[in-house]
Amino acid sequence: MLGQIAIAALSVHSVAKSFGGARVVKDVSLAIRPGEFISLLGPSGCGKTTLLRMIAGLEMPDSGTIALGDKDITGVPVWQRNIGVVFQNYALFPHMTVAENIAFGLRTRKVSRTTIEAKVRDALKLVRLDDFGPRSTEKLSGGQKQRVALARALVTDPKLLLLDEPLGALDRKLREQMQVELKMLQREIGITTLMVTHDQEEALTLSDRIAVMSDGRILQDDSPKEIYERPRDAFVADFIGMSNLMQGKVVEFDGKKRIAISEKAVLELPPDAISAAHVSIFVRPEKLSLDEVPGAAGSSLPGKIVHVSYSGSVTHCFVDVGLQKPLTVLITNRSSRDDEGPRVGQPIWVNWDARNIVVL
Ligand code: ATP
Repeated sequence: MLGQIAIAALSVHSVAKSFGGARVVKDVSLAIRPGEFISLLGPSGCGKTTLLRMIAGLEMPDSGTIALGDKDITGVPVWQRNIGVVFQNYALFPHMTVAENIAFGLRTRKVSRTTIEAKVRDALKLVRLDDFGPRSTEKLSGGQKQRVALARALVTDPKLLLLDEPLGALDRKLREQMQVELKMLQREIGITTLMVTHDQEEALTLSDRIAVMSDGRILQDDSPKEIYERPRDAFVADFIGMSNLMQGKVVEFDGKKRIAISEKAVLELPPDAISAAHVSIFVRPEKLSLDEVPGAAGSSLPGKIVHVSYSGSVTHCFVDVGLQKPLTVLITNRSSRDDEGPRVGQPIWVNWDARNIVVL
């Protein structure tokens, strides 16, 4: 990926960091194109915040280099990096007004008073808090605080915006609304952005590219669609969405290669699958369908519904097909209000198109 980028806005090269002998970031390389929105996605403790803090200049890497454009900033102090940072808890100064909070970075740069006033006004407008300048930050809602933090990070015209779980403290509805706002704002000003999150839905929604991290390493760095449709390994497949992971043995059947996932169930392989003797396969819940009759041989399993989870527009059905774990099938609730929908205990066929089986 690095080789494909002519002049990256940010290049992280072989960066490593240990705390008290524990290696929390292991030889990570990453490049971001100008204007790109990239997410570092991974479970708690995988090292993503440490990587962000090294880029911000709040931690020093043990080895490796970090460059903004063509300038090596590995040893440059935080205040000279020209990077805007938004933290999950916003880190606003409680004794200052909204305008004073936003102006803080400009004051430390000794910018003239009239320039500060104009820039603060523009920043407030950008985050749609035009009249909020004189207010105390303590009385703001979570969403408003988040916008002030964003305005404060952007007011110095940084080359890079770093977001550390920026929407983590907001409730679900506001979070979804702010996701749209954040993405629109980022596109409008075209700022290169790196966000840390453990929320896979948020990463899929906002990012041009996602770097999935586990145990101090980047496992896959790709577009959201590639990450979802073609995860490189079982960890990525399972971390992003529901995966219906299964283990199988490759067997010859009717002169064709197929996958035996149990003594009774032999599945058709997708046409381009590369097969070792044993494989992990998965199929996303929305690629499966429920039917009263079987589908094509090798792309259909009989089962019984063991659990139904209704959530308004969609329903997740858990179907026991005789494997270790039930298969999860997602159905969209398009039928009329009077339809009963799937029932627990109902015998059913799970059908799919063989092309939607992903072999890892
Ligand atoms: P979370 O989402 O929970 O913040 P994360 O993926 O961002 O997790 P980090 O915060 O980077 O993970 O932490 C990675 C590991 O490094 C953790 O085990 C953490 O306890 C440890 N760690 C982070 N900062 C320090 C520090 N200053 N001193 C010692 N250990 C640290």
